[in-house]
Amino acid sequence: MSSPASGSPTIETIAVIGAGTMGHGIAQVAAACGFRVLLNDVDREALARGVRAIEGNLAKGIQLAKLTEDDRDRTLQHIHGTTKLEECAAADLIIEAAPEKLELKQDILRQLETVSDHSFIFASNTSSLSISEIAAQSHRPEAVVGMHFFNPVHIMRLVEIVVGRKTSDETVQTVTEVGRKMRKEPIVVRDVPGFASSRLGVALGLEAMRMVEQGVASPRDIDTAMELGYNHPMGPLKLTDLVGLDVRLNIAEYLHRELGSETFRPPEVLRRMVSEGKLGKKTGQGFYDWTREDAPTVRKGAQSS
Ligand code: NAD
Repeated sequence: MSSPASGSPTIETIAVIGAGTMGHGIAQVAAACGFRVLLNDVDREALARGVRAIEGNLAKGIQLAKLTEDDRDRTLQHIHGTTKLEECAAADLIIEAAPEKLELKQDILRQLETVSDHSFIFASNTSSLSISEIAAQSHRPEAVVGMHFFNPVHIMRLVEIVVGRKTSDETVQTVTEVGRKMRKEPIVVRDVPGFASSRLGVALGLEAMRMVEQGVASPRDIDTAMELGYNHPMGPLKLTDLVGLDVRLNIAEYLHRELGSETFRPPEVLRRMVSEGKLGKKTGQGFYDWTREDAPTVRKGAQSS
């Protein structure tokens, strides 16, 4: 990482830890925007799957005439896959997209700090954990921050920059610039449960469920109110079906506990549907019957985390 006379440090190499759903997408977008990318996974097969998924996305881009073969080749040339975490410690910015477990994320950070005296920035893609807690045992908590991307990363434009208690202004400025270079729209959010996106999105979804319980309107009509009346790309109940009712219930319980607000108390209808195995699109049943011919169509890229 070189540090110009003024402004924030220049990021040239980005390491992405975890080549799963989010990691491969982050690596693809960073490489397409000219960064040198190290893509890491503990599991050799998962790493190979991640690279294949990138190749598939790029092939689709060519099919749709959004990319040229040169774009594809340049992007792939910028990506180097590795199962060795220590190789990643040489990067200027390390974006962690490993599973959502606090101890695992802390451990990855500790291992990287142990093998490197290089002053990298560590950005976690966590969707719910506290950045301050991830940084709790770090030697350089000022360089730990959140970069919360959305799924699918090559389509969704938002990145939430999450500022921990000890994150420095310089770190925030640097990752905000990286987010822009990755052609995302960065927003800066304090490290509070649910950040900005999940807190608002989940509040809307839970209120829509309470309206179903009270018989205010059908799920389809409640969604249509938001889609046509407020220009949301997708109504809150359709989105809940796509994310999974079990996932939404977990997040609601977590936000209810952490924020202590009745807004996030999970509605009875949500608990009942989860206990009946109606988890949304993945099980065929949710607020919609996804096995029917008139099931909603889903615009690609309208799904959040
Ligand atoms: P995933 O399960 O698809 O991928 C995780 C990958 O990490 C796997 O390939 C696994 O082999 C690898 N891994 C496990 N331990 C590792 C280690 N020690 N070092 C390196 N790699 C390791 O998970 P995901 O959906 O990509 O989620 C990753 C992170 O992104 C989580 O924190 C999640 O909360 C967050 N997130 C997910 C979404 C989403 O929609 N999936 C959206 C936003 C944020």
